[in-house]
Amino acid sequence: MNSTIAPEKASDATASERPNLIGLSRQELIEALASLGEKPFRAKQLWHWLYHQGETDFAKMTTLAKDLRVKLQDHFVAQRPTITREQTSSDGTRKWLLKFPDGNEAETVYIPEEDRGSVCVSSQVGCTLTCKFCHTGTQLLVRNLMAAEIVSQFMVARDSYGEWPSPMDGGRMISNIVLMGMGEPLFNYDNVAKALKIIMDGEGISVSKRRITLSTSGVVPEMKRCGEELGVNLAVSLHAVTDEVRDRIMPINKKYPIKELMQACRDYPGMSNARRITFEYVMLKGINDSLADARELIRITKGIPAKFNLIPFNKWPGSDFECSDWDDIRKFSDFLFEQGYSAPIRMPRGRDILAACGQLKSDSERARLTRMAERIKAGIPDDEHHKPQPAV
Ligand code: SAH
Ligand code: SF4
Repeated sequence: MNSTIAPEKASDATASERPNLIGLSRQELIEALASLGEKPFRAKQLWHWLYHQGETDFAKMTTLAKDLRVKLQDHFVAQRPTITREQTSSDGTRKWLLKFPDGNEAETVYIPEEDRGSVCVSSQVGCTLTCKFCHTGTQLLVRNLMAAEIVSQFMVARDSYGEWPSPMDGGRMISNIVLMGMGEPLFNYDNVAKALKIIMDGEGISVSKRRITLSTSGVVPEMKRCGEELGVNLAVSLHAVTDEVRDRIMPINKKYPIKELMQACRDYPGMSNARRITFEYVMLKGINDSLADARELIRITKGIPAKFNLIPFNKWPGSDFECSDWDDIRKFSDFLFEQGYSAPIRMPRGRDILAACGQLKSDSERARLTRMAERIKAGIPDDEHHKPQPAV
């Protein structure tokens, strides 16, 4: 494992006051340029520099007139978040802890695979849902990430692997995006949709919707819109086959029970046998891992073009669950396979850097809470605000 703590960048008050162009839609970019007295076609050129070339320095945008480059420099930035920590696992998994201007942090993970690699992007700081097996659900700070913050997680990964200009074939190292980091993307639909539209734009980052997978815990009312407007692949965190068990481990099930969730999957636009919904299923010992569960899983997903992703539970300090025995996971997987389904077991990656969702942030959160406890003990008032949102 190799780990670097990035030094805090020298604070540049004027730079931090200038609006960031990253994360603006094409129309917003046109408006930003209009505010400098520039014609709309300049936005196309600028878009190319920002998202195709990945350029952050206006001075290097050589197809723009010199006076425009100076004006851009005076009024805007094209900034990435600060990387507060970067770690690379011995298996090649790389993880960044990113700090946004308000001090909030989120994590992004790169997962290399044989012939491609995926960037796992966060959609919120923390999560308002409280799935019992998930460490993110225990975190206090919650806010939605802005479109810029979502897009720039991907851009940080591209910076790190030098994959600029945007490759035509979707990328050498980084070909796919999964929204499986911290947070529930469908609770932050507008920002996620705006970010994905920027990422999919063919004249910029240009990652095809077929290479993007959004994972949801089952926010039924937003699923259709996601399929219609974005057309990305869908992954559903199912994790249980009865409402009784799912209510217990995923409280969102009380609002959108399994039957409704399965109907929303059946209605998800654009699904076919070539384009299946992935059902994620975390293997919890004695809770959801019997062959009877596997049989029921086949029954409830009937009629849905489905594939399964079995995830060995990644234990975290204080969690109430154990990972299923390896033998049981194999039997579960073999049964689904015999029924004609793809059901790979997702091998744990980046264990040595705690690359599972929520854990790098948790490390730093723990340090923050320790500092807070020390301050309270010393009688110093707590100035760190928590802004929890209503849970479902
Ligand atoms: N909120 C979204 C996306 C982020 S979670 C969702 O729930 O789908 C990404 C995946 O990791 C989900 O399937 C989630 O259930 C799973 N997960 C969370 N904690 C885990 C743990 N401790 N071990 C294994 N998988 C976990
Ligand atoms: Fe939130 Fe997903 Fe974790 Fe549930 S599994 S708490 S929805 S991040």
